[in-house]
Amino acid sequence: MKEFKYLSPESVEDAISLYGQHSETSKFVAGGTDVIVKLKEGWMEPDFLISLKKIKELSDLHKNEATKELSIGALVTHATLEKSLMIQNRYPIIYDAVSNIGSLQVRNVGTIGGNLINAVPSADGAVPMIALDGVALLHGPDGERSVEVKDLFIKPYVTVLKPGEILKKITIPPQEANTGSAYIKFGRRAAMELPLIGIGVLLTLDTDQKTCTKARIVLGVAAPTPMRAFEAEKSLVGQKINEEILVKAGQIAADESKVRDSVRGKAWHRKEMIKVHVRRMGLKCLDIIKKQS
Ligand SMILES: Cc1cc2nc3c(=O)[nH]c(=O)nc-3n(C[C@H](O)[C@H](O)[C@H](O)COP(=O)(O)OP(=O)(O)OC[C@H]3O[C@@H](n4cnc5c(N)ncnc54)[C@H](O)[C@@H]3O)c2cc1C
Repeated sequence: MKEFKYLSPESVEDAISLYGQHSETSKFVAGGTDVIVKLKEGWMEPDFLISLKKIKELSDLHKNEATKELSIGALVTHATLEKSLMIQNRYPIIYDAVSNIGSLQVRNVGTIGGNLINAVPSADGAVPMIALDGVALLHGPDGERSVEVKDLFIKPYVTVLKPGEILKKITIPPQEANTGSAYIKFGRRAAMELPLIGIGVLLTLDTDQKTCTKARIVLGVAAPTPMRAFEAEKSLVGQKINEEILVKAGQIAADESKVRDSVRGKAWHRKEMIKVHVRRMGLKCLDIIKKQS
């Protein structure tokens, strides 16, 4: 591994400034679970590693009781999200996703921000953030800007972040009543494996608890970036949700996906699993909504 200097700023401004001084040869690091692998393999050879770990505001996780917005700092670890009762009870899709990431050791240090910015199609954390209409707050040399998480990704390992920009937090808008959400990481093994496919579903029902007013179907490993299955979502809105309708939505989502063959599985298998799990996750959402009432 090539030698590098490790810098540890205590504010976002200082981190951006340090990046500016060494922009060609610097890399930000959070938990390091992706970065360290790349350093060891020689895929990344920075002269300066700028750690974000001492920047306290990036580790904040809270729900604003007035606005009902959930704020997840970029440095919040998967383990912190997994252990949070608020996440377990109010945002089951986040819990489902983060509690299946890697091993306990990886979840203890891996962060939600690193998971998003690493930008692999299989990023488990990306699916819930998109399904919940998350908005990423970025801060860089030109100031702050907000980007919907669904628009963060360009292609594998590439996001819309400009050089020197830091992801500060993800804001989740208030959840409407009668909302259920669920995620499944489907692979050959339950642990320590990248998924064959990842499927997140979020449904909001009207006061009759039958008619769908909002649907999100988000797929991981189904395209070069995590993707929303917009047509499948449209097929649900305005409908009285039952198993038959969810089966149709699963078929539409599979048709919309851009799955391909890879070492981990064949495209046809991925499509079949999208069909099966859109239905299953949809039914899980209905169950969650029923239990809330
Ligand atoms: C054994 C193992 C198993 C794994 N299993 C899974 C799994 O099941 N599912 C899964 O999704 N991932 C998995 N991962 C990948 C990884 O653990 C996660 O993506 C993790 O969330 C990355 O977070 P990090 O803080 O470690 O990121 P880092 O490695 O610190 O950074 C990743 C990238 O993001 C950038 N970055 C980090 N934070 C910021 C920020 N705030 N602003 C701007 N740029 C930033 C870094 O510069 C780097 O390019 C696994 C990794 C390992 C080693």
